[in-house]
Amino acid sequence: MNGEKSLRRRLLLAGTAGLVAAGALQGTARAGTADVVEPDIDSTRTWGARPPQGGISVLRYRPSSIIVHHTASANSSDFSRAQAHSHARWVQNLHMDKNGWVDTGYHFLVSRGGWITEGRHDSLRTLYGGSEFVLGAHTAGRNDQAIGIASEGSYHAGALPPQAQWDVLVVLCAFVCERYGIPASRIHGHKDYSATLCPGVYHDMLPQLRGEVAARLG
Ligand SMILES: [Zn+2]
Repeated sequence: MNGEKSLRRRLLLAGTAGLVAAGALQGTARAGTADVVEPDIDSTRTWGARPPQGGISVLRYRPSSIIVHHTASANSSDFSRAQAHSHARWVQNLHMDKNGWVDTGYHFLVSRGGWITEGRHDSLRTLYGGSEFVLGAHTAGRNDQAIGIASEGSYHAGALPPQAQWDVLVVLCAFVCERYGIPASRIHGHKDYSATLCPGVYHDMLPQLRGEVAARLG
């Protein structure tokens, strides 16, 4: 199955799951936001994360922005779910063993094939709750305010993101914005805050990302 077919199937599944979940959720957070669907997100348990090597801090308020990253990994042509899980493990090992962090620095990762994995433990539970989030480690000075979403791959040297990754990033950003009440205008890139090449061409695409997310939010 090629990546595009896989994406269409996944988006269809995500839409269906969103409808079911919307009916099951308490409250009215989704009322009037028909274009916001709940994407499938593979939890740390699903992809077999290591336990954190220290405490995860839960911040008892909502984040006010999203910051987009790339993981500077290889631009894999493997668009499978297994590759998304392998990439999630690679990032976690890097952040824990090389950087010495308690866990993955990002809250969520989007693979080149359009599969979403939870990064730091408890990011998913708190996202569903919509009123708190976990302290990440992705952007100096902004970690207590922003959700960090990282795209698999390296986009600072001319590579363009696969369509599946772009489409799922839009869906995920819209869902995060909707759950936390974040305006699409508050989606930024890592280089807005630090001397870094991250997230490469995704930074040039931020106006388009904000526009597509805003259209979904209505
Ligand atoms: Zn970054």
